Amino acid sequence: MLLPPFSGQPLKAYNRSGEDITSTLFAPSGFMKVDADYTPRPYEQWSAEDWPRTYQNPTYPELFAAGIAFAPPHAISKPRKTPNGTLIAPAPPRTGQPSGSIGRACAESIADMVLGRDKPLHEASMARMGASCVASTGANLRTGSAAAMIMYPVVPDDKKYPETGRHPYHTRGEIGLFGHWIKFMLHYLFIYKAKALPGWSLIPE
Ligand SMILES: Cc1cc2nc3c(=O)[nH]c(=O)nc-3n(C[C@H](O)[C@H](O)[C@H](O)COP(=O)(O)OP(=O)(O)OC[C@H]3O[C@@H](n4cnc5c(N)ncnc54)[C@H](O)[C@@H]3O)c2cc1C
Repeated sequence: MLLPPFSGQPLKAYNRSGEDITSTLFAPSGFMKVDADYTPRPYEQWSAEDWPRTYQNPTYPELFAAGIAFAPPHAISKPRKTPNGTLIAPAPPRTGQPSGSIGRACAESIADMVLGRDKPLHEASMARMGASCVASTGANLRTGSAAAMIMYPVVPDDKKYPETGRHPYHTRGEIGLFGHWIKFMLHYLFIYKAKALPGWSLIPE
């Protein structure tokens, strides 16, 4: 999907003595720096390990950037140019499922810190998680359809999957009535979860 580049909120940050720490906290794109490896490298040297796991800011450990708020270390796959020279830098999918998984890990880490539990931070690397997407193409329980796509991992891992960077079976898509039923089910499950009704935490992101 081709979209204009995303950017974060243009927030300014200051420390207790009033010094401007915006560039310590945020990348030039406006997203918050976290535990990613931001060392500038050519595409050939990019690795799945560059991607953040805990989303904790390295300078201010009480700050986390979950969901769409964190600064990615680089594009997700090889940057390209259009014939007229416009840069196309593939960005990680800023969608609900990864945001939910990352949000859960950050919330659990913050809860551990607040409660004084001496535990390692929870992790949710996009290089270790899969994602699914269901795009409706007709909403009817008998004649409807939807395109269902799965991708694993979200960030390609060329060491683990040298051919395409992704698992060949767990990266595919199909279209059919089953897709509409999945979308229908997810709709009610997510609303149930958002209301925190009994058993909500068992429903995955
Ligand atoms: C039109 C549209 C359709 C989409 N469809 C899908 C879809 O079908 N499937 C899918 O997976 N994803 C979809 N997405 C993407 C998905 O909604 C986002 O990826 C997800 O909501 C990001 O979650 P988040 O918690 O990181 O950020 P957000 O959901 O944007 O939450 C950030 C929150 O912070 C609040 N906030 C901002 N600034 C401040 C401040 N200064 N103080 C206090 N609060 C503040 C905002 O009000 C907001 O509530 C869609 C997005 C759009 C715009």
